[in-house]
Amino acid sequence: MKISQFFLPTLKEAPSEAQVISHQLMLRSGMIKQSSAGIYSWLPLGFKVLKKIEEIIRCEQDYIGGQEILMPTIQPADLWIESGRYEDYGQEMLRIKDRSNRDLLYGPTNEELITDIFRTHLKSYKDLPLLLYHIQWKFRDELRPRYGVMRGREFLMKDSYSFDLDMNQSRLTYQKNFLSYLRIFSKLGLKAVPVKANPGPIGGDLSHEFVILAPNGESDIFFDKKLLEFESISKDIFLDKNLVEKEYNKWAKCYAVTDDIHNEKEYNKLTTPENRVNSRAIEVGHVFYFGTKYSKSMGANLINNKGEQLPVHMGSYGIGVSRLVGAIIEYSHDDKGIIWPENVAPFSVGILNLKKGDEYCDKMSELVYQNLLIAGLEVLYDDTSERAGSKFANMDLIGLPYQVFIGSKSKDNGLFEIKERATNKRYFLKLESLINHLTEKFN
Ligand code: ATP
Ligand code: MG
Repeated sequence: MKISQFFLPTLKEAPSEAQVISHQLMLRSGMIKQSSAGIYSWLPLGFKVLKKIEEIIRCEQDYIGGQEILMPTIQPADLWIESGRYEDYGQEMLRIKDRSNRDLLYGPTNEELITDIFRTHLKSYKDLPLLLYHIQWKFRDELRPRYGVMRGREFLMKDSYSFDLDMNQSRLTYQKNFLSYLRIFSKLGLKAVPVKANPGPIGGDLSHEFVILAPNGESDIFFDKKLLEFESISKDIFLDKNLVEKEYNKWAKCYAVTDDIHNEKEYNKLTTPENRVNSRAIEVGHVFYFGTKYSKSMGANLINNKGEQLPVHMGSYGIGVSRLVGAIIEYSHDDKGIIWPENVAPFSVGILNLKKGDEYCDKMSELVYQNLLIAGLEVLYDDTSERAGSKFANMDLIGLPYQVFIGSKSKDNGLFEIKERATNKRYFLKLESLINHLTEKFN
């Protein structure tokens, strides 16, 4: 993509309503446009990142046997009356009437809808285990939408729902999802901490939040620093249920909780003083095992191998896809702008033609651009007539992992300068090595 043709409405100054750095940077880099409180349009740069995050999640969920579906945003109130949550959900639920005066709502989550799908189509233990997920917009009429996409009213969530025959199998599914979440966050370039949490209105007796440490986070957590040092989860673990259990226990037995269930005595018993961390954090995922809460109230039963009818055991697993865009920026930025982790960057490489109008620089910029495109990379080429200083600032602001400078130095000795955004490391390469070097990085 050439910047001269790209819809990239960047701003020099952050609008004053943006309180946190991620919101400021998202507005300045033209990723989003607010349409009303807590509701946003996603512009090309922002939408690319959102789609990348989605794709990483999809890939990992498919790997553990998840099957993608798509449920609607608009749901009938009847199902929520059946589960008993229609009144409980209160003012956060956006309630709508259609022209025939039927009560509808914009879904804040999907336990009821999925339980209805299950009870309609699945009857036997032979159909289990089953893990269904979708990536869909949710609406919660938050009291205080703020921090840009991190606490929106309309937001994108990946939510999965699991169905198992009994508690033991359902717990194994919970453990698999827990480990899958750790893989997802690490692929997104984040160090997530799983903390025990209060299940809240979803219900159930086992629940973990996945949080990212950040001074602007709305959660307050207490945890054992050991959790930050564990190695990332390898794919083979999922092939053996004993390995799943062992790995899960390693993580789950470390002390890590949200403030509302924090217990000072236990904390002191289970951790050493130098390992105790109390920090603000952003919740990016939440997993629940709630057993038969919805299957009992909504009659989602199964016939087991003895011919008995039993309510199915369920869990649900959510990730805030749109919140993650903000959370990643909170986690990874400097005073110049965003620093995208390679896997989610909207483009991998930015090319800066520093002498636009100069025959050699124009020709070489175009050549590097075409060659990187042919190699399959996503490239943003700044072909505008802006001053060099403003091109540097703009590229740093939008945070692409690699920048290639084409200017006087290239003209004098055929060398192109590369800058790595994250480390600020700079080096010079000849055209061919430059193409190879960047191609290798991204393949
Ligand atoms: P919070 O405590 O932040 O209000 P929650 O516990 O109500 O979130 P869940 O029901 O667990 O949220 O939803 C799953 C995930 O959806 C959360 O972990 C979070 O990442 C995301 N999420 C929830 N509410 C919002 C929101 N208002 N804006 C953006 N993302 C959200
Ligand atoms: Mg939650």
